[in-house]
Formats: sequence, structure tokens, C-alpha cells
Amino acid sequence: MAVTSDAPDRPKYDPAVDLDFPPPNLGPSVHVVGTVVNVHPDETPHPKVRRGEMGKVLFDYGRNTISADPIARTNSNRCRDKGNVFTDVLRRAPQGQINPNRTRVDDPKLMSKHIKNVGHYFGASIVGIGRSHPALLYAGGTLRDTGFIVDSEEGPKETPQELCKKYPYVIVTPVAWDYDLAQAHRHHIGDAAYDTTLMQTVLVLTAVENYIKELGYTALRGKVNPQAAALAGGVGELGRNGLIISEKFGSRIHLSDAILTDLPLAPDEPIDLGVQDFCKVCRKCAETCPTNSITFDENKQVFNGVEKYKIKWETCYKLRPLVTQHWQICLTCSTVCPYTKPNTWWRTLAVQTLHRTPKPVRPVVVRSLKWLDDRFWGKIPNKRVRWLGYDSGIKPGVKACTVAGCTAQHDAAGHKADIPLSDIGYYAPLKENTNRFVKR
Ligand code: SF4
Ligand code: SF4
Repeated sequence: MAVTSDAPDRPKYDPAVDLDFPPPNLGPSVHVVGTVVNVHPDETPHPKVRRGEMGKVLFDYGRNTISADPIARTNSNRCRDKGNVFTDVLRRAPQGQINPNRTRVDDPKLMSKHIKNVGHYFGASIVGIGRSHPALLYAGGTLRDTGFIVDSEEGPKETPQELCKKYPYVIVTPVAWDYDLAQAHRHHIGDAAYDTTLMQTVLVLTAVENYIKELGYTALRGKVNPQAAALAGGVGELGRNGLIISEKFGSRIHLSDAILTDLPLAPDEPIDLGVQDFCKVCRKCAETCPTNSITFDENKQVFNGVEKYKIKWETCYKLRPLVTQHWQICLTCSTVCPYTKPNTWWRTLAVQTLHRTPKPVRPVVVRSLKWLDDRFWGKIPNKRVRWLGYDSGIKPGVKACTVAGCTAQHDAAGHKADIPLSDIGYYAPLKENTNRFVKR
């Protein structure tokens, strides 16, 4: 049963009362400014959809969608047979035990360096280590892998405060979406970039969790909001688009979960990439969001004691069943973001220039960088992507494979490779179309 935010027994973080925990340092993009009521796993988007609380259409979408695309049937919950989705099998594997022969850690800094190397070795694109804090934790239970595992009762029964005293560190191990594939947002190709990295995060997190257990320490998954952990661990800043924007990959990273641990570590500090100054001026994501889920406001909102840009996840989610015949995950707000560029020297130079620019002068630099971004990449990137026989210039929903002799049914029947690029596919003016039925 769902637990509502106003439940009287809900754990809270109150900075005026919890004197053991000063407000967390989450960097320039997010500030805890009041009492934070810990969110229960049951109240997060995926569980609400799966219980039918977001309406019949989303319920049916969440429970019964089978993709026309064989890659989506292999790497996502839009599968035909869960046995063919390896992460689903992995999630159901029994949990391993903690090694009773604990490895001694004399130097937490060295161990941090080591665990980062281990995380990268297992496949993480970034490894961030932050301090745990009661405001970052769920209200109890478990929410793993972006909501694929939800258990209201599972795990230790300690309060967030007690858990943070026992397990002082959080580790995040995001995996970056392939840049070229992510250009084909609003297409099966973009979906593949997104869903495959989710699979990879599950693999990486499970491996790092088990590695920590083999060192003789506790590693708890599903206890910490991964975005908050990423802020604390210096992975990035929260953008207007509601995504963590990282230094190397922009917002094309998949977080999915975090690990709470007592392994002795030296945490990283939050970072300042100038995202706040950029988002104040830019608004590219808000202008192109097809569901008007992203705010245009200059100022952030205070929501549940936290000051940040907050997107309307309900309207974002409601797009999915309407387009599921063609594609699934919108990704426009990530793809258009000027920070989401290939990891090249000129990108690094632009980020570093902004970072080193004194705050009062930053708006001028941002306007110039945004002008360059619009000029060279367009308001919406329109690079045609051909990959594994898919072609993002062809409207999803018609047979997309243009490889000579290929008989795979990547899509429904029909071969329309000659349709002009500007009229079809993910380049279609989706926002104008959706404005007709999505309430502002
Ligand atoms: S609808 Fe698309 S652009 Fe808008 S918030 Fe959702 S994913 Fe981002
Ligand atoms: S597109 Fe612009 S406003 Fe949106 S998150 Fe990126 S930098 Fe911020």
C-alpha cells in the first residue's frame, strides 16, 4: 500500500533538530533549506505507475507493453519473456554474504582510489564517493535499479539518521550512454542507448556491491536517492532538465542506484561546472520538451525542503504510452543540452572556461557558448544515425532496416527509406504536435 508524504510516522531530516547532521553539501545546484520528509520507495514514479495510480493507460503501459523492437525486448521491461532479459535474472539472484575475514583499511584515501579503479574496471564511466546524509535516504524499504526492485519492508529497520551513522559513505557508478546513439533520441536507436546503459549499471553496481562484501564490509543498495548521491559525490550538478550533468558526458549518464557502505573511504566534494549559470540563461531543454514538463522560471523551486529545478515527471511519463508504437524514451532534454557533447578537447575547454570565469561575468560567457551551440548543433540536433540496420531518418514504426538483404523485423512492415529526412523520424516537430493534447 502506498505511504503518503504526510504520514505522521514518516522519517524526516530537520536541520534545526538533527544537530549531528548539518545540511548536506550538494554543490551549487541543490540546497537543503528546510525539513526534508524522506520519500518512501512506494511513492516514486515507477511503483505508482505499476499500481495503477497514474491512470489506466499508464498502468497498461507499465505492465503489458511488448516492444516491436527485438533489442528493446532484450534490454528493457518492454520484453516478451523476462528470461531473455539478463538484468531481470540478475536481480532475482540470491544475495551473497559478507566475508567474515575483513580486509583492514589503513588509508581511506588509497581505498577510495582503489574502489574507483575497481568501479571503472567493472564498467562504470564515472565513480563518485560522497558522504551519506539522512536527507539523501529513502524513508525505509528498498528502491533498486530505478524502481525495478521495490520492497517496502526489505532491509535494516534503522532510521535514515542511524543508517548514516553506521554507513557514512555513498558510492555512485554511472554508465554513459553512447554519444552517437543518443543523438537518435525519439527512436529505437536512442532507446537502445538508454536501456542498455541501465543494464550495464545493474551489472556494475552488483559487481561493486559484491566486491565490497568480499572485503568484509556492508554494501546496501536501494537506500539512497542516486541523484542526491551523485551530487554529494561530485559526479555533476542538477540541471534545469532534472538530470545530473557531469563534466565529461553532460547529462547522458545513467545512474539507477547507489551503494551505502561502511568501507572506510575519503569522500569527494561536490563540483561546480557552471551549470547553474548556464541553466539560468539557456532553457534549451524547456523550449524543446514535447510535454512542457520543464520549467522556464529563472528561480528554482523549494520542494520538500530542497531548493532545485524540478521537472513535472507525471507529464513526462504520460508521453510514453502515446508513442510506444514508435519509440519509448524521449531523451530530448538530455540530447539538446549544450553540456551533452562528445568528450573532446573543445568541450573540456568550454566547460573549464566557464568554470574559471568569475561568477558575475558568467552570463556573458554563457550567452556566447549558447549562441555557438545553437549555431553549430542546432536547437535540436539533427544528425542522422544509422546503426545495426536501423536508420533514425526513417520514421520509427515503419521497417527501419536499410541493410541490403536484412530480413530482421526491427520494426513493423513497410520500407520507406526514401521519405525526406525533414518530414519524418525523430526530427518531426513533436512539441508542436503534443501541445495539442498535453496541458501546459
Ligand atoms: S518529455 Fe522528453 S524532454 Fe520533456 S522532460 Fe520528459 S524526457 Fe525530457
Ligand atoms: S539544456 Fe540548457 S537549461 Fe537545460 S539543463 Fe542543459 S544547460 Fe540547463
